[in-house]
Order: sequence, then structure tokens, then C-alpha cells
Amino acid sequence: MSVQVTGISGIPLIQKGDDIPAIICANTGFENGDIICIASTIVSKAKGYVRPLAEIVPTPDAERISAKTGEDPRFIQGVLDSSADIIIEYPFILSELPFGHVGVRAGVDNSNIEGENIILLPKDPMAEAREIREKIHEITGIDVGVIVTDTCGRAFRRGQTGSAIGWAGMTAIRDFRGDRDLFGLELEITEEAVVDEIAAFSNFIMGESNNGIPVVKFSGCETWKGHNSLYFTREEDLIRKALHIR
Ligand code: GDP
Ligand code: MN
Ligand code: MN
Ligand code: MN
Repeated sequence: MSVQVTGISGIPLIQKGDDIPAIICANTGFENGDIICIASTIVSKAKGYVRPLAEIVPTPDAERISAKTGEDPRFIQGVLDSSADIIIEYPFILSELPFGHVGVRAGVDNSNIEGENIILLPKDPMAEAREIREKIHEITGIDVGVIVTDTCGRAFRRGQTGSAIGWAGMTAIRDFRGDRDLFGLELEITEEAVVDEIAAFSNFIMGESNNGIPVVKFSGCETWKGHNSLYFTREEDLIRKALHIR
């Protein structure tokens, strides 16, 4: 497999109401099977998943956590409001979002937005990915895969990487179960989270600061078969069961 990876330049500073699929199509061409990674930051800005800090009134819970972490209690309140379940509270909030993703500070972000605003993750990133894929198809007639990404920390290792929080036109997981290895051994548990691998590399092209590259195109990826159960259920997630730290 030989894959070409291209950061798409020419994307403006995204404002509420901007048509992301149209903007992407105006700045690059596609072929069937291309995969487009899009930073959740611009999806959220376009869709208005942004809150001015001035409009957030912190609850006592937010004040209590803020006294420990030193973060703005309004920011903490934004994180709490985004969360379906708080797993770790201190030294940083780690929580589950309603769509299943577990992230530090619920993925609430104060980078790459002007003024005193916070960017929330899109409410339904799978639907956002589907919509962008369908609109790109309407505009160009071409079938692409779409991955909405966010930069996330991870357990056990230093350094953030890109993760997929929504995807369309592919399965999240490439399932090797039942395949045989080089020596004929049947694989029983190997599943590969391909959407995260692609998101991680797209994050390398995007960078975190002032690159201005929120969209990355992958051409030449072979297709794969698998399933979409990327998130552990609560019963399956052994590490999470062992946590819940206050
Ligand atoms: P996140 O990982 O989704 O939180 O997004 P980041 O804040 O890390 O931004 C990813 C990339 O997109 C970086 O190269 C940013 O400079 C760029 N970026 C963020 N917002 C915009 C925007 O509105 N317009 C453009 N052109 N680039 C942006
Ligand atoms: Mn950011
Ligand atoms: Mn982010
Ligand atoms: Mn990022």
C-alpha cells in the first residue's frame, strides 16, 4: 500500500454558519476512496458548538474543582456540562461524553478561537462526519471517507495524538479475527483501530498551533472490513471500572 497524505491549505478562519464541505471542495480535488480528516475544532466553530466564558455561571461543583486545579471555574463548568460521566476529577477532569468518547476535559478546548470562548466537541460527531461525506458527494459526485478528529492525551504514555471522534464511509475497526498469521496461527483477538491510526497521522500534518491546516487528505488507503464498536461498553472497560477517582 502506498498512501499520499496532503494538508489542505487555503481554509479560512472558520466562523459560525460556514459550509465546511463547500470550503473543502473549493480547496482540493478528490478521488473515490480518499479519506478526509477534519479537525473537530473547525466543525464545532462552523456548527456553533462554542460558548463565551462570560455566559457560563459556575456551579459549586465547578468552583470546588477549580480551587484544586487552578483552572477558570467557568471553563470547568463547560467541561462538566459536556460530560455524561466524570471518571477522574483531579488533577484534571477525565470524562465520558454522551457519544461515548472518553477525554481529558471532555475535549473542551480554548485554543484556536478568538476572544474568551471555549470550543466544545460536536454533539454528534458521527452525524457530522456523515453530513460532510454526503455533502462532498453532492458537490463532486465522489465517495470519500470522512474522519472528524481531536487531539487527545492518552494513558500510560506521554504526548497527545489525534483520535477519531466521528467517521463515515468506513468502519472504525479492521477486524483480523479469524485471519491466519505468517505461520498459520489463527488470530483470536486482534482488532486494529484504523480510524485512530489515520487520525493520529493527520494530527501530525495539522499541528496544534498556528499551521492553519485543519483538513488532511489521504489518497491510496486500501479498504478494510470490520465494525464500528470503537468504544468499550462500561462492562468491557476494566480500567475504567478500576478508576472513578475524586
Ligand atoms: P483540534 O485538534 O480539533 O482541537 O484542533 P487544533 O486546535 O489542534 O487545530 C488543528 C489545526 O487546524 C491546526 O493546524 C490549526 O492551526 C488549524 N485550525 C484551527 N482552526 C482553524 C480555522 O478556523 N481555520 C484554519 N485554516 N485552520 C484552523
Ligand atoms: Mn485546539
Ligand atoms: Mn481539541
Ligand atoms: Mn489539535
